[in-house]
Amino acid sequence: MASPRRAAGGAVQCVVLGGSGLRRAWLRELCGLDEESLEGGGTPEALRLLDRLLVDGPGASVRPGESGTLPVSERDRLLAAVYRATFGPRIEGTLRCAACAASFDLDFDLDTLVAQTLDAPEAPGIEACEGLYSLPDGRRFRLPTGDDECAVLTLPPEEAAHALLRRCCVEGELAADDEPALLEALQQVGPMLNLELTASCPECGHSQALHFDMQAYLLGALAREAESRVYEVHRLALAYGWSLGEILSLSRRRRQAYAALVAGDASLGARGRP
Ligand SMILES: [Zn+2]
Repeated sequence: MASPRRAAGGAVQCVVLGGSGLRRAWLRELCGLDEESLEGGGTPEALRLLDRLLVDGPGASVRPGESGTLPVSERDRLLAAVYRATFGPRIEGTLRCAACAASFDLDFDLDTLVAQTLDAPEAPGIEACEGLYSLPDGRRFRLPTGDDECAVLTLPPEEAAHALLRRCCVEGELAADDEPALLEALQQVGPMLNLELTASCPECGHSQALHFDMQAYLLGALAREAESRVYEVHRLALAYGWSLGEILSLSRRRRQAYAALVAGDASLGARGRP
């Protein structure tokens, strides 16, 4: 593998976008300017974040500014890779049992979820050729992209779903009766990290559904760090005299490491006082 170039924000990773390994993307790690640019938790914000993080690299299938052209399943792979590089491979949360009302923690491995959900889509009867898929009845379709999602964003939800399917059907008529079959085919060939999981209560054993959406989970995790980031910037500005722009240009990892060192020095100083 060719050595990736270093970006201003830190290390760069290569993400394989599909099971064949032929499509790939290069992502740099997050810096404070990326985190500060986030202003919401939807698809447009996720695309803007990816466009900031995408860099050119050997064999790149998608470049900065092109994240909206990716099928949703490939976008979810990139978002999972951003999460993994930023927070690690564990997804964690707290649930309240619907049966006994006990709160319990749950966590699962993101790599396993990606492998189980995205790696080997089963689509019997659907032929694939260069990004287009053929149903047994001859109709052809493509997978929805972020650009498709953004194009129908302002429509009422049901109308948006119809419009999205019509955009994806590239050959053949799409009657209202056919939409469930096309929707099922889309889910088979382009699975997403937006799914129902099952969690069991450790107190009473009750099983309940848990919705997991990679995009919302990543953007939510980044939004929750806004306050701690203010403290990190404050500590570094006081300790080193760096400007806001200089501090936010640091990779998140490096900023947090410096801020932890400064906090450690401060606590040592406090303990050493008479
Ligand atoms: Zn329970």
